[in-house]
Amino acid sequence: MKNDIWAATAPADIDEPNRSPLLDAKVMMVDDEPLMTDLIQAHLEEAGYNNFVVMNDPREALSVLRREAPSVLLLDLMMPQVSGFDLLEAMRADRELRYTPVIVLTAATGADAKLRALQLGATDFLSKPVDSSELALRMRNTLAYHQYHNRLVNFDSITGLPNPRLFDRGIDAMLARRDLVGGMVALLSISVPQCRQLRESIDQSTADSLAKTLARRLDRIASSADFTFAFATSVERAPRVARLGADQFGLLVEGMPDAEAIEAMAKQVVASLSDPVMLGVYDVAPTAWVGVAVSPGDGETAEALRKGADLAATHALQEGTRPFKFCSLELNAKSYQRLTMGSQLRGAAQRGELCLHYQPKVDVASNRIVGVEALVRWQHPDRGLVPPADFIPLAEELGLMHNIGQWVIERACRDAAGWSQAGLGELKVAVNVAKQQFTAGDLCAVVRQALFDSGLAAGRLVIELTESMLMDEVQAGLALMHELKALGVTLSIDDFGTGYSSLSYLKQFPLDELKIDRSFVMDLPGGRADVAIVRAVIELGRSLGMTVTAEGVETSGQLECIKRLACDIYQGYLFSKPVPVDCLVELLTQDRAGNATSARAA
Ligand code: C2E
Ligand code: MG
Ligand code: MG
Repeated sequence: MKNDIWAATAPADIDEPNRSPLLDAKVMMVDDEPLMTDLIQAHLEEAGYNNFVVMNDPREALSVLRREAPSVLLLDLMMPQVSGFDLLEAMRADRELRYTPVIVLTAATGADAKLRALQLGATDFLSKPVDSSELALRMRNTLAYHQYHNRLVNFDSITGLPNPRLFDRGIDAMLARRDLVGGMVALLSISVPQCRQLRESIDQSTADSLAKTLARRLDRIASSADFTFAFATSVERAPRVARLGADQFGLLVEGMPDAEAIEAMAKQVVASLSDPVMLGVYDVAPTAWVGVAVSPGDGETAEALRKGADLAATHALQEGTRPFKFCSLELNAKSYQRLTMGSQLRGAAQRGELCLHYQPKVDVASNRIVGVEALVRWQHPDRGLVPPADFIPLAEELGLMHNIGQWVIERACRDAAGWSQAGLGELKVAVNVAKQQFTAGDLCAVVRQALFDSGLAAGRLVIELTESMLMDEVQAGLALMHELKALGVTLSIDDFGTGYSSLSYLKQFPLDELKIDRSFVMDLPGGRADVAIVRAVIELGRSLGMTVTAEGVETSGQLECIKRLACDIYQGYLFSKPVPVDCLVELLTQDRAGNATSARAA
């Protein structure tokens, strides 16, 4: 069903085909006898058809039907395992396949079988052995009727463009494959007030002529070479242009790399629609007002995107200063920036734009480096080094944190293995794990593979989990932590004190390290209350058998204080900021030479 609707998206008066478009229909055959499908295909090829899907195993037929969405199905009734009746029944229960026309091929002449097939929604019959001219005739009639029906239900009668109903399905289809195609989906709602003005001031047929001209122009834009990049990866044809109302059109594009590309497209639409049109004696200068909604960002459904784009088009028209407006982006400059960043962030790891900085973890008693924490940064082509706080929340929202996190784990393991090969000792390396990684179900596999690939001993990898992550997913989290422990890695609870841990849960978690959040350390040595809190946390960690690390130690006063409270490890600007890997190697070399001194800022 999908396919033949899509195939008829071009307005009839725009397409001037030399051959009947019906011949491009995708014809699927399900028959257990290969000889029969070969024969039918040969007959149909002779009649001019060229697009076939052949299935000789009926058990696979339903999933292939769903995937291929043929224009018509030629179905054998008598097959082993799954009969034609079974398949018809399953198709009628399927929302997408319900209206696919089915021509039943049957040697059985009995009225019962035919009646049953009809009741199950078969469109027509063809007797075996198949007569080639009868086959061609039945095919043509079935397809023509079906196309006519589609046209009534899905297309605008004046312009031949898809109507909102079909367009919405196109939007949903694009949204569903957005991640596959990559980039952004943009919906342009285009308002041309002259359509209405002509109808009111002259007549309906002049207004219709303008609508047809605009439809032709939009269709040309959608198929022009300039936009092929936006459509290049389309996995199927889908309506990209639609008539959404008397003076409103829609244009849909996918694979847009950034907001700038969408803006360029909107400008081109405005320019090409605004060319003057001669309609009889009237010289009309159309003005196009474009509202743009983008996904991700403005919505995840056809309804949400259309609403957003329509609203933006109305704003553009009312304000009258700029011919196009983004739905939320221009109204909200920050989200515009986020959108661009979001699309740039996709693939940042593959493009080599991510890097790790390492912050030493230092033994409080000896002031020697005992480990490092890997902290990710994004080397943005224009913005320079972007800190994690500026892109991790966005990456989480866009579902990118799983891949980024995997990259971090792999990179950190490889770096740490390299340091020991360079004679810098058996340092532990800590990585932070995002909630998306924690819940994805493959964290253990990712860790195991990274250890295997790098050759790093499991005991040298520390996984930092946040308190809130653990508290949100107690049972699942507990199982995962045990799995990770079984691999031999060290588990740490990060930012402790900010996530309202339940002490009874904490007791059950197989944690090795507790990191006191910087917000508690910051106020040390300060008032007695702060000292009391940090002391209590250190004692709690101790009593649960964990190593206690203080984060964010910036002053020697703070270091003295945590030393008095018998904290094990510290991390902070006092010793070193997170540094690129070459600086870390230098720090490690000095440290290993026994020259490490405190108060070293990078
Ligand atoms: P975190 O894991 O608690 O990391 C410590 C943060 O505190 C780091 O910020 C570090 O630069 C900063 N810091 C360390 N010592 C001091 C100090 O003395 N004073 C001050 N003011 N700050 C200090 P950064 O690198 O900006 O990272 C921020 C957060 O981003 C991290 O907090 C972590 O939650 C997250 N993050 C960083 N890398 C990753 C990653 O690869 N994956 C995930 N999921 N999150 C990451
Ligand atoms: Mg951390
Ligand atoms: Mg932390």
